[in-house]
Amino acid sequence: MPEQSPQPAVTPRFRPVLDRFAPYKPGKKPSAQDGPGYKLSSNESPYGPLPSVAAAIAAAAGSANRYPDNNAVELTEAIAARHGVPAAHVAVGCGSVGLVQQLLEAVCDPGAEVLYAWRSFEAYPYLADLAGGTSVRVPLRGEGHDLDAMAAAITPATRLIFVCTPNNPTGTIVDRGELGRFLDQVPADCLVVLDEAYVQYVRDPAAPDGVEMYRDRPNVAVLRTFSKAYGLAGLRVGYLIGPEPVAAAARKTMLTFTVSTVAQAAAIASLAAESELMERVDAVVAERQRVRDALLAMGWAVPPTEANFVWLRLGADTVNFAAACDRAGISTRPFADEGVRVSIGEVAANDVFLEVAQAYPGRA
Ligand SMILES: *Cc1c(COP(=O)(O)O)cnc(C)c1O
Repeated sequence: MPEQSPQPAVTPRFRPVLDRFAPYKPGKKPSAQDGPGYKLSSNESPYGPLPSVAAAIAAAAGSANRYPDNNAVELTEAIAARHGVPAAHVAVGCGSVGLVQQLLEAVCDPGAEVLYAWRSFEAYPYLADLAGGTSVRVPLRGEGHDLDAMAAAITPATRLIFVCTPNNPTGTIVDRGELGRFLDQVPADCLVVLDEAYVQYVRDPAAPDGVEMYRDRPNVAVLRTFSKAYGLAGLRVGYLIGPEPVAAAARKTMLTFTVSTVAQAAAIASLAAESELMERVDAVVAERQRVRDALLAMGWAVPPTEANFVWLRLGADTVNFAAACDRAGISTRPFADEGVRVSIGEVAANDVFLEVAQAYPGRA
């Protein structure tokens, strides 16, 4: 083996903003030595692709020598038809995270402020930083958005507001009426993005439907994804529905060919199989209810959740509790000193989680 050359005194120069980023930590795999091990750390679907979707994936793989359709015409039309909107109001991306980045790239000139609740989805601060935006974070009130405080935090420099409903990681929704009153206060030249990654799991009738709310509001757009309820997290495809100029801006900033041929085919097949997929979503919702009820009966405080996860605000106990789950073969998503987010998985996984919660001393 050649000898390692000595460390050079000067390294390539990177943007200082990168110093703020911790290296990406993927959702943990369970590390217990015995037992099956369950991954409840990334809010994935516990189900593999439906046979019809797997067949579409296999068929699309046969044309992997060709570039994807950069305009994703067939998928865009399928999404538009599904929601009853013009195809010009749809933009696709590499997951809805891809669209978060596309939108930030589209609005962030130097000095642009990006407003969101905190804690919320971790991609917002990181991608806002990367785009050169200035994050303005408004603390949650209880476990939900404080829309009054967010309205008060708007300045002439605010270019983009994220409203994550249900909120990751707390699971709470914003109330439709409150959201409407909030949107009335946002200046027309400031974009509001409703991140509805978990919308298929929502059962509370007070929840907003972003696709309805955007229709008469030229500065509102919605993000949806195939990653969660549709079970395609590994294929990376999400979409935006919004007014034509917003969708057009998101298309301009998309990395060329970012949604693969296989991802497009899988998404189209998933829309065709939607009723079958929604049966699975119903099963997860039933499990969510069972898990939350069991936790409440044990004396845990669990905010109402409309997503496929529960949130335990454990504070200083967070890392301890996550370690106890880990020893039992369950990986979770701890946010040190704040709380633990635990995805709803298969019944057996949820049972193991509930056993850990039952045995844990000094429940929250
Ligand atoms: C999981 C998640 C997404 C979706 O990510 P993809 O890039 O579509 O996989 C978007 N927003 C929130 C709040 C999420 O939790």
